[in-house]
Formats: sequence, structure tokens, C-alpha cells
Amino acid sequence: MLGERLQAEIIVTGDEIISGQILDTNSQWLSQRLEELGVHVMYHTAVGDDIEAIAGVIRQAIGRSDIVLVTGGLGPTPADLTREAIAQAVGRKLVLNEEALESIRQLFARRQRPMPPRNEKQAMLPEGARAIPNLNGTAPGIDLEVDRADGKKCRLVALPGVPAEMREMWTHQVLGRLRQAGLGARMILHRRLHAFGAGESQIVAMLPGLIKTDEGPQVGITAQEGTITLRIAVEGPTLEACQAAAEPIIEQIRQKLGHLLFGEEDDGLEDAVIRLLRQRQQRLAVVEWGTEGLVNRLLAGVPEGAGFYLGGLVVADAAGLKQALGLADEVLQQAGVRSAATAEAMARRVREIFPTDWSLAVPCFPPYHPQAEKPELAALALARPDGSVKSRTLPYAAHPAMLKVLFAKHALNFLRLELLGVGS
Ligand code: ATP
Repeated sequence: MLGERLQAEIIVTGDEIISGQILDTNSQWLSQRLEELGVHVMYHTAVGDDIEAIAGVIRQAIGRSDIVLVTGGLGPTPADLTREAIAQAVGRKLVLNEEALESIRQLFARRQRPMPPRNEKQAMLPEGARAIPNLNGTAPGIDLEVDRADGKKCRLVALPGVPAEMREMWTHQVLGRLRQAGLGARMILHRRLHAFGAGESQIVAMLPGLIKTDEGPQVGITAQEGTITLRIAVEGPTLEACQAAAEPIIEQIRQKLGHLLFGEEDDGLEDAVIRLLRQRQQRLAVVEWGTEGLVNRLLAGVPEGAGFYLGGLVVADAAGLKQALGLADEVLQQAGVRSAATAEAMARRVREIFPTDWSLAVPCFPPYHPQAEKPELAALALARPDGSVKSRTLPYAAHPAMLKVLFAKHALNFLRLELLGVGS
């Protein structure tokens, strides 16, 4: 396990959130910031504009967490109840906080508007709380230390609901205060490695003892649309220490998984393909039918691909295929539009149309029969710089919603392995 970690929770308030009118992005953002500090977030709670309900969830949160962050409900209207709810939850009076009042006055002065009396309410903070100045809005934040029944202390911080105000205050004020209190003295480094071409259980079996170790770096595994991602989390006093601890684990994974690994962090298979084309100074064009343009779209989305990925053709039926590629009727009729032979003919023909070194072809897909005893096969083909052509078939058996993206990835991976010179 990672060392003894502080526990935090986040409470967001507002009828707009619980009624589904706006999406709670504050919890997501704050959770990411807390995780970066090595603080473990255990609960997210959304609560409507009701003082008893808000006070109730705050009381419960204080009782079980070291840090409680509340956003929203700090405005000047009667529906803004967070100040009162905190005071009620911790059993303290609301008192006028001069620093908060000054920060509100200054905001109105900057906007060259008189301060309405009702905004004074925003300077009423629970006794003992420190104000957190808000440079972009009228609502000052609240920073309060509360003694818990178990003898520990809880740090309660309330920030405005407006995401831009909340983020600015977190970054420029709250973070510094939490660091001063010794929080975030340790770092957590997250790394991601991606593999394609083997199932999750197969990869787990290839990494004995590495997945979810009890001590030191933790390696988690997730699978999405055929891509297996290994997530490494390392805790340490500095970034350098975390990197040093993560590196041997990453090296072990690299050695064990070899060419199954295609990238890191935000890489997709298309990034890996473009990288290899650039290294070899070679070009690529793609023709596709079954994948409906997905392979071309993925490659076109890689900015570094300019000059190496030349483009391609997307066809929707046999007539389109004949017209676009000028393939003879006999080829299509004899071999069938789903066959490896048609895929090969497509790959060969694209090399004549585009001034390319490599070409990749995805023909028509077979119909999907979930009940079929034996799955149908779908074909892929590629042409190499020397003009030779290679095809392969794969079982066409997965949920239809996944098939297109899965085959687009298989097509890219087929090419990636050829570019690496390790294609089977
Ligand atoms: P202010 O006085 O500046 O309005 P406030 O603390 O009263 O601050 P709220 O009234 O609760 O803030 O929210 C203001 C606006 O901020 C909401 O209308 C909504 O657009 C946005 N907002 C509030 N909470 C969230 C949240 N959790 N995630 C994303 N947006 C939010």
C-alpha cells in the first residue's frame, strides 16, 4: 500500500447540480488536485439548497475525513446557505470577518459600483474561520480548522461554486495554506503504459507479481476497446524520487511485454504508427470500407503525421470501391468483397494512386451473428515499400458497438508490427 495517506472528501451544493441542470465539474477538478498532493479522496457528495441537509453532510464529512472541501452556496442570496450550514454543523456563531468584508469592498471598488448591503452577509463567517480572498467574485472562501471527536483535526475549506473563481482560489491561496500545514509534502507520480494485441488476463499472466503489489509502486490494469493500460503509481518525497522508483518497474514491464507495448501516457496506436513512419521517413495511405473512415480519422488527428500520412479513401459499398479504385468486377465477384484477396487488391491499388511507401486496406466486414457457433472472419491487408502485399484475417466476434474501433486498432497494429519488422 502507499504510505499513510490523508483522507479528503468533497461536497458540492446547489439544486442546479442535483436536478441535473449543470454537471459537477468542481469535484472532478478538485479530486485531481488532491490526488496530485497524495491525498486520497474517499467521497463526493452533492446536496441541494437545504440548510439541514447541507449541515448534515458537512457534519458527517468532518467526522470521517482529514480534509473537507465544500463548493457553492457562498453568494449573497437567501439560497446561498453554506456559511450558515457550516456554522450549524460545527456549533459556532457567524461573526463579521473584517478581512472578508474588506475583500468584498475592494471588489466593488474595482468594478466602480456601490456595494449593496446584502453582500455584507458574505463577510459573516463561522467564529474562528479565516477568510480566503476572492479576486474574481464577491464570495470570499472559508478556511476553518475543526477538532474532531476522535482527537484529530479536520481542515474545512469552502470555496465559491463558479469554477473559474474556485480554481483560482485553490491554486493561489488554498494550496499554499495546505502546504504550510504540511500537506502534499509527498508526491504521487502517475505513469501509463499501453499495450495492444493480447487480452487483459494474458497480460496479467505475463507480469507475475507486478500487478497491484502491496509495497512500493502499484501497477493497476484496465482494458478499453482492446487497449490494455498499465497504470503505475509511485509515492515519494520528490518528483525525482518517484521517477527513480518507477523506472525499474517500467523497465520490467517493457522487457516482459516487448512489442505488445505501443505507447505511453496519451498515445494511441495511430501515434505509434506515425512515430515509426517518421523514423523511417516513409509514407502511408489508407483505403477503408468496414471501419467507415475511422483509421483515416485517427491518423489525420496526429499533427506530426503531416507529410508521412498522405490521406486515403473511404468507400461505403462495392460500387464506390470499383469507382474509387478501379477494381475489376471479376476480382470483387470471384473473391467476394470481404475476402483477403479483395483487401490485398485494395492495398495494391492504393499504392498506384498515392505516392506512398505503405498502404493499408480494410474491406467490407461480414455481418455480425452473436449466436453463430464459429465467428466470421474479417480481412486486413497492407502493401509494403517493396510492393509486396500481406493480408490477415481476424475473427469478427465482439459487440457491434466495439467492432469498428477494434478493427481500426487491429489495422493500425498490423501496420505497426510490420513497421517494426516483427509482423508474423
Ligand atoms: P457566487 O456568489 O460567485 O455565485 P456561489 O458560491 O454562490 O458563488 P453558486 O451560486 O453555488 O456559487 O454557483 C454559481 C455557479 O457556478 C452555478 O450557477 C454554476 O454555473 C457554477 N457551479 C456551481 N457549482 C458547480 C460545480 N460543482 N461544478 C460546476 N459548476 C458549478
